[in-house]
Amino acid sequence: MSAVRDEPVQEGRVIAAAENAADRPEVQLRPAVLDDFIGQDQLRENLRVFIEAARKRGEALDHVLLYGPPGLGKTTLAQIVARELGVGFRATSGPVIVKAGDLAAILTNLQPRDVLFIDEIHRLSPAVEEILYPALEDFQLDLIIGQGPAARSVRIELPPFTLIGATTRTGLITTPLRERFGIPLRVVFYSVAELERIVRRGAQLLQMQLADDGAVEVARRARGTPRVAGRLLRRVRDFAAVSGATRVDAAAADRALRRLEVDERGLDAMDRRYLHCIADHYGGGPVGVDTLAAALSEERDTIEEVIEPYLIQQGFLVRTPRGRMLGRQAYGHLGLPVPAAAAGQLGLLVDAEAAGE
Ligand code: ADP
Repeated sequence: MSAVRDEPVQEGRVIAAAENAADRPEVQLRPAVLDDFIGQDQLRENLRVFIEAARKRGEALDHVLLYGPPGLGKTTLAQIVARELGVGFRATSGPVIVKAGDLAAILTNLQPRDVLFIDEIHRLSPAVEEILYPALEDFQLDLIIGQGPAARSVRIELPPFTLIGATTRTGLITTPLRERFGIPLRVVFYSVAELERIVRRGAQLLQMQLADDGAVEVARRARGTPRVAGRLLRRVRDFAAVSGATRVDAAAADRALRRLEVDERGLDAMDRRYLHCIADHYGGGPVGVDTLAAALSEERDTIEEVIEPYLIQQGFLVRTPRGRMLGRQAYGHLGLPVPAAAAGQLGLLVDAEAAGE
């Protein structure tokens, strides 16, 4: 649907966080109400309060900005918000809205208090963004109709609505747009315990017999991402079905995940290729992201939005002002010694962090 979601690296990558066609099969794993939404505790409870307050007042919920890596539940949350508010839900995405008229058509069709979800909102064109501002602030649309001397400006009143914007990186959103969201919420990677609950729930919905240790194995290797957990679960189910196993335990899950080249930390071939590139060709870094993008023939956006966030969170990678460096975890994982120069720099970084710099 979008550029990020269609990156070549995503195709066939079983732990890709971006959505692909295989994620929309017969059984939906997407939770439908807030009580079924596992993890993101603080965000979820805050949202519950805001929804309750908006319902009580009978007003539209304030605009919400959800930001964080792909596959962590932004779309799911937006749908849940609409359902909990008892209002309609319309979804679109930044790159799809090309002209001001496209946005006008969507906005003028909303019912009072509806939720409009715009995925990849950082990819709206400046012209579209411009007409979105008064729509968000005053529920008014200022449109220019016609061209040349016959052009005239019309103002259309809109029903009060809630915009839920989603983006992988808040830094990509212009400041005026960001400031129009009353409720900015950051989604974070899930813990293994949370993913385990998500995997168990998924197994139930898929009517699959999953042993406790099997659930842990899938959860540990899901890259902190529910979408990945769901995808791994389906593939593990496939392998088990073909091998004739009725119940999936840790050993069966491990065999399936190895076949998929997902290692014990949840990294796949692309992650390892990325880490090896820094280790083998750049002495462990620091190396600039553009250099890495060229060396790996990947888009810079894919590297920054899809590959790096999890590696950074897990301590495999460190972002420094001079570029990317492998973290200590990476050397251990790849079975390589920490080069003396890198050890010195990593030590300095740790000291600087400890000193609060
Ligand atoms: P995003 O919009 O952030 O890319 P989605 O909302 O599309 O992510 O979520 C991806 C998939 O992960 C969904 O299909 C859903 O099944 C699953 N999922 C996401 N968050 C949760 C959660 N908290 N609990 C259970 N499943 C989840």
